[in-house]
Amino acid sequence: MSRYEKPQSFYDDVKRKFAEERDARLAYRPEGTAQFTSDLDGKLNQYAIDPFAGDVKAREPINDEVEVLFIGGGFSALLTSARLREKGLESIQIVERGGDVGGTWYWNRYPGVACDVVSYDYLPLLDEMDYMPDKQYARGPEIYSHCQAIARKYDLYGIAVFNTTVTSTVWNKDEQLWHLKTDRGDHMRAQFVICANGTLSKPKLSKISGMETFAGHSFHSSRWDYDYTGKHLENLHDKVVGIIGTGASAVQVVPELGKTARELFVFQRTPSSIDIREDGPTDPAWASSLAPGWQAKRREEAIAMSELPLVQRVLAGKVPTAAGQADDDWAKEQAKITMMSREEKIRAQENANIDYMMGIHRRIDSIVKDKATAEALKPWYMFMCKRPCFHNDYLPTFNLPNVHLIDTHGKGVTLITPEGPTFGGVDYKLDLLIYATGFEVQKTGTYNQIIGQGGLDINDKYSSGIRTLFGIHSLGYPNLFVMGGYQASFQFNLTDMLQSQGDHIAECINYVRNNRYRAIEPTEAAEESWVQEVIRYRGKTSWNEDCTPGYYNFEGESNRRQDGNYNGTFRSYVQHMRMARERMEDNFSFTKADRARKSS
Ligand code: NDP
Repeated sequence: MSRYEKPQSFYDDVKRKFAEERDARLAYRPEGTAQFTSDLDGKLNQYAIDPFAGDVKAREPINDEVEVLFIGGGFSALLTSARLREKGLESIQIVERGGDVGGTWYWNRYPGVACDVVSYDYLPLLDEMDYMPDKQYARGPEIYSHCQAIARKYDLYGIAVFNTTVTSTVWNKDEQLWHLKTDRGDHMRAQFVICANGTLSKPKLSKISGMETFAGHSFHSSRWDYDYTGKHLENLHDKVVGIIGTGASAVQVVPELGKTARELFVFQRTPSSIDIREDGPTDPAWASSLAPGWQAKRREEAIAMSELPLVQRVLAGKVPTAAGQADDDWAKEQAKITMMSREEKIRAQENANIDYMMGIHRRIDSIVKDKATAEALKPWYMFMCKRPCFHNDYLPTFNLPNVHLIDTHGKGVTLITPEGPTFGGVDYKLDLLIYATGFEVQKTGTYNQIIGQGGLDINDKYSSGIRTLFGIHSLGYPNLFVMGGYQASFQFNLTDMLQSQGDHIAECINYVRNNRYRAIEPTEAAEESWVQEVIRYRGKTSWNEDCTPGYYNFEGESNRRQDGNYNGTFRSYVQHMRMARERMEDNFSFTKADRARKSS
């Protein structure tokens, strides 16, 4: 019987199991997102400290004024400032918490770090930089170097202020300027502020009882301590290591730790779905055949592809699959789908998704030798409920004699003693404990205090629901642009999304300058219409409620429909921005340049 001829009862049983697994997790953690903390103060401050900063030199506080100021120096800032530079804008400043540009790729230097998105799509500005990645999937150091190269090419190092965190951003109506304070006593002023502080940038920890008492060494995956582990993890040969979390970071770290640690304990709450990574060197013949503009063309295709449902994207090979590549059976199945009613279509999509996940299960069985471990590694949720992972060495690592999966059956680690985590009556005595417990999600724009027109804190404005135009502009916050926040599209290839936002922001700033305006903000009507558009698309499915808890669905919290991403297609997100720019005077209000009083 082919997988398309399974009785519907098979799929119904799997869906029931999905629901049981989800419900168990929701019952363990009814507090939702409050189970985590990213307020890393006091004893938890060690998890926030930058291990890569080196000796940060004392400097005089900066007191200056620029046209455009970026909070954050990752891809958002690099891509947008490159566009602004191309438009001739010189007066830019980048204020960055870390010691260099790169954002995610500055912080995440754990062994094995790489990107799951094909490098020719993920690494931006390849045409402009005349750069071709070596491999299909780029490793972290290559991406970090690419960020540095962009900063050099667009002359951004001279305008970057590193090791500095913005603490407040306050709008001065009379001067039509933003006033920013930092943790280094700076007082900066800027006409335009771009919140470019990252979608997944602030490390968070699971609130585990006793975690402050652990007497061994510990750090967060995004603050890797190579002084302790050694550059090639050579110091771990005589160490017992534990890692909490099995998300995308852990999936890349675990194979490296498995090779080097004396003993490795992997504390799992929910397994990730692990598919094959079809990596390989870049084909030089293909690379040399590319005409100028090739990457922009690829991006256009990616935008068009976003219109297709998931299964069709899998068919087109845009999502790698262990469940089998596109085959005739599946293609025929797809042809049938077009003739179906809405309910039949939903069921067919669900069944195809379950088939895919069963392929993920079969792959585990074929690789992991110990039956109990193989069972424990099987994810029981729909594909894309959690961030899918792609790795060829993760599953085989569990065949190594020194590697032990500690499956907590959805409960998670809830107690840590001075010796290490305790679970199921066993005390795990560790030398090193690594937290791969993730990051705050898409709170970009709201970390530091942002005070707009009438003294309104943006968090107070959002307390009755996020209100933006495109997730970028918000009424009452003139000349403020947020990148990678909620109410924007969310793409697996994040740089596509950030580039489209950066292009839009650069066009808006250009429009203000060319028309001798001073400030731009969305009209109430434009903002309201976008909020309704976000609500309309988020109301279409029960996906969020049906999925196992994770950061994709706010850990199962029922949230307002407007407080999330725009779920229309990426293509329509880009089109909406384009259309708004075609009618700037209708969608935005502007302040004339002569309204601003000189700042002192
Ligand atoms: P995630 O938020 O994805 O994963 C956190 C992990 O910690 C989950 O497995 C979670 O379990 C687990 N966890 C939390 N609390 C406990 C506990 N008390 N006991 C046991 N386990 C616990 O963080 P990551 O850093 O892995 O990834 C964040 C994102 O960064 C990715 O989703 C991806 O977008 C990006 N990234 C991309 C990479 C790539 O391109 N390959 C690589 C790395 C990161 P549960 O699932 O039950 O909540």
